[in-house]
Amino acid sequence: DSKDFDSETESVCPFCGVGCKVSLKVKDGKVKSVEGINGPANEGRLCVKGRFGFDYIHHPHRLTKPLIRRDDAPAKGLNVDPGNLGTHFREATWEEAMDLAAKGLVGLKDEHGGRSVAGFGSAKCTNEEAYLFQKFIRQGFKHNNVDHCTRLCHASSVAALIENVGSGAVTATFNEIENSDVAIIIGSNPIENHPVAATYFKQFTKRGGKLIVMDPRGVGMRRFAEEMVQFRPGADVSMLNAIMNVIVEEGLYDEAYIEKYTENWEAERAHLAQFTPEAMSGICGVSPEQLRRVARIYANGKAALIFWGMGISQHIHGTDNSRCLISLALMTGNVGKPGAGLHPLRGQNNVQGASDAGLIPMFLPDYQSVMDDGIRKSFTDVWNSDDFSNEKGLTVTEIVDQVYAGNIKGMYIQGENPAMSDPDAGHAREAFAKLDLMIVQDIFLTETANYADIILPASTLYEKNGTVSNTNRQVQRVRPAVAPPGEAREDWKITTELAQRIGLHWGYTDVSEVFNEMKLNMKSLDNITWERLKTETITYPSLHETDPGQAIVFGDGFPRPEGRAKFTPASVIAPDEAPDAEYPMIMTTGRQLEHWHTGSMTRRSKVLDAVEPEANCSLNPRTLKLMGVEPGDMVRLSTRRGSIVIMARADRAIAEDMVFVPFAYVEAAANILTNPAIDPYGKIPEFKFAAVRVEKA
Ligand code: SF4
Repeated sequence: DSKDFDSETESVCPFCGVGCKVSLKVKDGKVKSVEGINGPANEGRLCVKGRFGFDYIHHPHRLTKPLIRRDDAPAKGLNVDPGNLGTHFREATWEEAMDLAAKGLVGLKDEHGGRSVAGFGSAKCTNEEAYLFQKFIRQGFKHNNVDHCTRLCHASSVAALIENVGSGAVTATFNEIENSDVAIIIGSNPIENHPVAATYFKQFTKRGGKLIVMDPRGVGMRRFAEEMVQFRPGADVSMLNAIMNVIVEEGLYDEAYIEKYTENWEAERAHLAQFTPEAMSGICGVSPEQLRRVARIYANGKAALIFWGMGISQHIHGTDNSRCLISLALMTGNVGKPGAGLHPLRGQNNVQGASDAGLIPMFLPDYQSVMDDGIRKSFTDVWNSDDFSNEKGLTVTEIVDQVYAGNIKGMYIQGENPAMSDPDAGHAREAFAKLDLMIVQDIFLTETANYADIILPASTLYEKNGTVSNTNRQVQRVRPAVAPPGEAREDWKITTELAQRIGLHWGYTDVSEVFNEMKLNMKSLDNITWERLKTETITYPSLHETDPGQAIVFGDGFPRPEGRAKFTPASVIAPDEAPDAEYPMIMTTGRQLEHWHTGSMTRRSKVLDAVEPEANCSLNPRTLKLMGVEPGDMVRLSTRRGSIVIMARADRAIAEDMVFVPFAYVEAAANILTNPAIDPYGKIPEFKFAAVRVEKA
């Protein structure tokens, strides 16, 4: 009953990239309940995280005052109880903390140059906050060493999409599946990671749509699939090339589409000749018969969508994996028409928007190259500032390496937790301990904040104003349902004040001013206004001022030379480290339904932590039996980077030589084990494949 609440506020779920619209019911200054409402991505639906995972915002661990590392603090490390500052930090006023932060940043710049400072922004913040963060580094320090978690997520997908179709965003919303007759879900586990999107996929199969699920794990969507293709980890390119080989050999490609809208087909076609199903079956572990069946189902569909996740992107050949998916769609004419397209499912609530807003080292907002003098000038004209570097900046893992090497001495980290999320997290933690100045802006004393010198208390999505953009390119307003606790502040206000204190002439007094500044150099926001967003969700591009936006793009050519998309052939590259006698199994990582990313929010949510309270990994029951391990026993997982002890679960869907480890648990952090080797194009680490030894603990 609405009388039970003091207020109801519409906003957007803070977790995954689906971007479900919610109504927050508030009583006595606290969010008491969350309901799904009628947003275009969720139509009233919510998953367990969106419905029950809100109480973290009132958790006693919330940071309510700025903190400064004590002069007599012990050496930096992961030894702070998040509810107890102990001897590490002391409370400070905003004046003292901001003064120290600004003087520290300016001091490093004066003594060592602007490149001694780098920044990680956040996909958990709004578009406006992401825009301001990249502007802070570029304008304040004159370089592009600013990045965020997209580097660990879909950077390789974006690299391949920009290269071959001219734009990094999805070509069709996931809701378009209502117009499809065939869909592929590959390297993605939407029932756990994009649960509301998964409801649309299930409805599609109920209507008779043919679903092909491809994954080294037998993920939950297999129950709805016409074909479940369980291939060897890391063998994506061999499998996808074999499927395309069949389409060529059997003449199932769309010659008219290829002729009209693409380039480089002959090279692709010649390249594919060697990848026969018989030749590739031994590499990818899929029978020639199944490869042929899948090729025929996909190519004979009238309108087919491809969805992919981190299983595709988080490899040293992640860009090649996406190139194959793009080629598959192009050769069958499955882009730019209802029910057809390419859709990398985004992991974080605003990773699409933060990337669009320029929180990446090679691109300014709207993926405009930092190397282009005219583009940089269009930004510095608006910013009323000097030019900055025309070199692509360093990515997340490259920045950490430069911190380790002592070349980067100061970092400003907003709402990201790289001490948990970076590959080879032990190395990242050692690097952060070396920094002269680490400013962390966050809502909790995260694992990363443990290494900070200054901690600035920030706000959750339910405490702020702004916009976010979901996996569907849908721009939506978020609104404050409650005030930040204590002295905590909205992130855009903190960045603005810090910018002023390092000498930048920023005068924003309302977040809508930031949005309007973004529009000056972001064509994707054409026809999207702050006024419209008060009542509408708008999908970009929006073609006129009453257009709700385009669910499908590239119906008549691509934003590339001559309007043509490109085929880029991909060769088979082995994973960076092969299993051997010492590390004989394969480890892969990911999320699970109840916990989100590094767990800083969901593990502080009573319901979610009650449902899934303990660090766990999944192994095949036969593997457990051979090891003499019962489900529930502890096992030790070791790689060349380190080892963790974690509870083992039995899961028949895991291959016998694999172990799956969620990365949300600090007490058994999966990323202590992961391989930091990166894809040469997207610079994304190989989270999905590491050689591992599993022993009874
Ligand atoms: Fe939130 Fe994603 Fe769940 Fe929707 S599907 S409620 S956006 S976590």
